Amino acid sequence: MAWVMLISKVSFAVFAAALALAQPAAAEIDASAAAFTAPAGTTRFVLELSGEPQPRIFVVDKPPRLVVDIDDVQFGIEGPIAPAGLVSDWRYGPLGPNTGRIVFDLAEPALVMRQFYLPSLAGRPGRLVLDLQRVSAPRFAAAARSARASVDAVPAIQPEDARAVVVLDPGHGGIDPGASSGDGTLEKDLALAFAKRVAAELEAVPGLKVLLTRTDDSFLSLNRRIRVARAYGADLFVSIHADAAPQNFVHGASVYTLSERPSDAEAAALAARENLSDAVSGVVEPDVKEDVSDILADLMRRETKTFSLEFANAVVSSMGVAVRMNSNPHRYARFRVLMAHDIPSVLLELGYLTNSEDSQTLTDPVWQARAAEAVADAIARFFGLSDSRAGARQIGRTQDAATLRSQ
Ligand SMILES: [Zn+2]
Repeated sequence: MAWVMLISKVSFAVFAAALALAQPAAAEIDASAAAFTAPAGTTRFVLELSGEPQPRIFVVDKPPRLVVDIDDVQFGIEGPIAPAGLVSDWRYGPLGPNTGRIVFDLAEPALVMRQFYLPSLAGRPGRLVLDLQRVSAPRFAAAARSARASVDAVPAIQPEDARAVVVLDPGHGGIDPGASSGDGTLEKDLALAFAKRVAAELEAVPGLKVLLTRTDDSFLSLNRRIRVARAYGADLFVSIHADAAPQNFVHGASVYTLSERPSDAEAAALAARENLSDAVSGVVEPDVKEDVSDILADLMRRETKTFSLEFANAVVSSMGVAVRMNSNPHRYARFRVLMAHDIPSVLLELGYLTNSEDSQTLTDPVWQARAAEAVADAIARFFGLSDSRAGARQIGRTQDAATLRSQ
């Protein structure tokens, strides 16, 4: 309710004003000097201050900018200070009576990966240090989105809240078992187990939050899966399946993205089968209707499509070295579960339960581990976090070794 928010905002403003009257003016922090350095691909910004600030840092996109708000700051920086590295230009000034703002124009998408304050020592002023690091375009877009979303609730976000959100969607579930193999393996169980493996692989990656649309054998309609992803603030949506094909020689993993026109008849047939999930379960829900007339929604849809294709390529290249892929590994069709215009989305078919070789490998724990690791790598790479993933994997291996030793 907009008016409720308005009233609460007004009363907050009155409350804040009363508070300001009741208290003496806060101590000013003098910003006396600034400097940029750009060692090895990173960029460091140092601001000399007379006291410790509580900076609020967030990013804005189109074009990419980094914003730092500091309360009660007085700028007395002399001369033009040349930017460096990832910062192409910068400016500062008062934002309101009690806040100063610094805006950095970014040459490339970047986030503050480390910030600290060195207190005044031996006559030298204190220093606020911000270390910027280049990140992938999708990760930057995710951070900008969460900053936008939190603008009403809080003035800015902390860097740790800028984590990218991955929503894994195990297909089918509950009343809808999906496909099944000759020996009774069900697609819904395989998909859930595999999603949990991928989530576990990504658990220790900083900068990433992984959530599942379902964590047990419950049924979710296709629209609900999209709604859940939105509610979680998904920056990437991966629906996981292992289907059946009328021809039992069809085999291997493949990745699907959304398209009104299918890449081939087989992809169209697969989408039709996957889209039946609701009908199988007796749920009647219309297609997700998005407002196509909105020019912003249209721009966003194009950006989403580019990111979806980028991620599909990442999955194909990383799964391609780990497991057997379909001869045509990236295809597209009209999958209802991929229809969110604002969330990069792919559908992963791990293989075909109707192919005897596939159905054997799909249930093999060694294959599952290898494939899940490849998918996790692709996700980390998509968000430019593959380095921290390599670190996390080392930790994982050490823990595995420790577990083995203790057994
Ligand atoms: Zn399926």
